[in-house]
Amino acid sequence: MGLRCNLGMHQGDWEYDYSRSCDQTRRCTSCGNVSTRVRHDFGDWEFTDNRDEPNCASERTCDRCDETETDYRHEYQWVNYRELLESAARKPTSGLLEFAGAMATGYAASKIHPCSQVMACKRCSRPGDSSTLTTEHDWGRWQAGPYGQGTVRICGRCGEREERD
Ligand SMILES: [Zn+2]
Ligand SMILES: [Zn+2]
Ligand SMILES: [Zn+2]
Ligand SMILES: [Zn+2]
Repeated sequence: MGLRCNLGMHQGDWEYDYSRSCDQTRRCTSCGNVSTRVRHDFGDWEFTDNRDEPNCASERTCDRCDETETDYRHEYQWVNYRELLESAARKPTSGLLEFAGAMATGYAASKIHPCSQVMACKRCSRPGDSSTLTTEHDWGRWQAGPYGQGTVRICGRCGEREERD
């Protein structure tokens, strides 16, 4: 019995026990130790939710043993925080309920900076980590500044100005 076996690092290949089973066995070629594990061969995740009121419930199935796994597979992207809160107030459906609840505890949409962005699922609007915000301005074109000095651009949403020489 070698040093590797003492550390639990046995040798040999894993083999499936049966053709339609995902149980695998390995008999160590060095010490004869028998280990078992389960290795599924899952296909792609597919949405199983109601498309009219999505919550991103998903399912995938193992090609070998037909075992099924379920999970929520959200597709997060940056969205405008204030618009998301406003739509949550208008339409408190499943995925937006958390945001509606956040508003009730004082997170009023009007207090949010108009250019704040938050991560939310593009399918069901479920918020991601709402402590992580970015600011994304809706900049207009660079124009000549006042008195022809430098250039300036203005955010069409919040009115912020940015100047450069
Ligand atoms: Zn071994
Ligand atoms: Zn399987
Ligand atoms: Zn989602
Ligand atoms: Zn802005």
